[in-house]
Amino acid sequence: MRSRIFVKLMVVFLLVIGVTAITLQMTVHGVWKRTLREQIERNLKQKTLMFAYRVEADRQHSLADITAQEGQAAGARATVIDPTGKVLADSEADADSMENHEHRPEFVSAFAGKVGVDERKSHTLGVPFLYVAAPVSGGAVRMAYPLAEIETTDRPLAVALFWGSLSAFVFAVLVAALASRYVGRRLHRIVTFAERVAGGDLTARIASASTDEIGQVAAALDKTARRVEESYARVQTSQRELETLLNSMQDAVIAVDIDGRVQWANRGMKRLLLHAPRLNAPLIDSVRDPDFLAAIQEAARDQVVRSARSNTIASGRTFDVTAAPMPGGGAVAVLRDLTETERMEKSRRDFIANVSHELRTPLTSIQGYTETLLDSPLADNHVREFLEIVRKNAARMSRLTEDLLTLTRVESGEQRFSILRVGTEELLQDALESFQEVARTYGVELAIENSLPAAHVNADREAIHQIFSNLIENAFKYAASGKKVILGARAAENGVEFYVRDFGPGISSEHLPRLFERFYRVDKARSRESGGTGLGLAIAKHIVLAHGGTIRAESELHHGSTFFFTLLASETDSG
Ligand code: ADP
Repeated sequence: MRSRIFVKLMVVFLLVIGVTAITLQMTVHGVWKRTLREQIERNLKQKTLMFAYRVEADRQHSLADITAQEGQAAGARATVIDPTGKVLADSEADADSMENHEHRPEFVSAFAGKVGVDERKSHTLGVPFLYVAAPVSGGAVRMAYPLAEIETTDRPLAVALFWGSLSAFVFAVLVAALASRYVGRRLHRIVTFAERVAGGDLTARIASASTDEIGQVAAALDKTARRVEESYARVQTSQRELETLLNSMQDAVIAVDIDGRVQWANRGMKRLLLHAPRLNAPLIDSVRDPDFLAAIQEAARDQVVRSARSNTIASGRTFDVTAAPMPGGGAVAVLRDLTETERMEKSRRDFIANVSHELRTPLTSIQGYTETLLDSPLADNHVREFLEIVRKNAARMSRLTEDLLTLTRVESGEQRFSILRVGTEELLQDALESFQEVARTYGVELAIENSLPAAHVNADREAIHQIFSNLIENAFKYAASGKKVILGARAAENGVEFYVRDFGPGISSEHLPRLFERFYRVDKARSRESGGTGLGLAIAKHIVLAHGGTIRAESELHHGSTFFFTLLASETDSG
């Protein structure tokens, strides 16, 4: 294949060489002609002056002889005229038959005392002549030289110039062809390199040894290719590391693009599914679990992290799904097998429930017998004191077992709530009525601040009463010093937020995040002394969660605390 650049370079070279040869030929030719003409003129002038001198000095020969001899010696036509312009002698014609020459330009100058020069066609011969005239005493002399002579001398020069130019042209064309071929080949190597790189071969190099501009371009391209190859290798290594890491994970990981097509899945995921997911196939072909699909779809579409629980991906197993958006679009989902954790959680709950249940009867028995003994007249004061301690502790243990049973039931979902539409005000009123009396014993004023009479929520009345009971009792136990406990409700996003506010000592902020953990107590001694089990807030939290709500506490030291929980609004008035 003749490269196009070769053809283009050749055309340019040919044009340049051609134009140069022609210009050179014309210039040389012109200069040559001019020089020759000047030389002839100079010669002719000298010969004319010599002729004039001889006409003046030679007294031995006749004018006609002198004219004939000088004309022959000069190879030109010699003429002598008198001051009136009459021809006295001529080397080539009969002087008498010649017309008057007075007004010929060269003679006009000669008569003015100068050497006159003129070039024109001869009247007699019709070819261009160069005339040079010089003054002599008693007239003027003239030499005429036919300029056609120049043309004759010039022809061999033109021929020589033509052949010279032609050989220079051929030589230049050969050199240009070689140069074009050399440049064309080097550029072709760069093109081949670029094609290989575009085809994904990053090992391609031009390896040019030259340091000219093309060599510099080649070196820069080689350097770029080397850098790209290195970065690509680094990316591949980190990708392999990432793959190894993801494959060695216990969790299953799968990535999809924006259209829900599988982009990648780790070994855990492939093991989990009956049919290993095919690359670029829709995810739904390999996974059918609706919750899982919805989570990953939402994460990809809305660019948010979504969580879900999935039970149908593998039979008898539960997975916690976390789907997160990927920076370039699409999403990645991590599936954590919760089966074992849930099984252990369940056996832990069962154990607690069984222990609590088993403790119930002996505790009731201990309480019964202690009370009987306390009522008996036999006991003296010392024994009574001990019996009272036994009774108090048995009662505490009984509360603890009851609270543990309640917590396990709510936590495990065993506790069934009958969720109905109920008025916000009713719930607050229930709580107020139940604790009005107790409030008085603590010397605390219990009041409703804001009851949102028109609002309704979806709730199990009994369960909500339990929450209020735990919160209000806490307020009495720990914040009676504030003398006032306020119940209230306010509108919240999706529902109603209830609150129980006291004006007691408050809770310092580091305790707030852990307050709802089971057995978490700010002041252990105070809690025990007041008969607390450390489970009240944990129970409240699980009841609220089971209702789809949230619970939190706000507090300022020495100014009191407020416990908030939200319940979903009943659909009929949620608009
Ligand atoms: P307890 O049975 O100990 O009351 P809870 O779970 O009901 O257990 O409460 C956890 C802890 O939170 C309590 O031990 C107490 O230290 C703190 N607390 C709860 N309510 C209040 C309140 N209104 N003011 C100050 N501290 C409180």
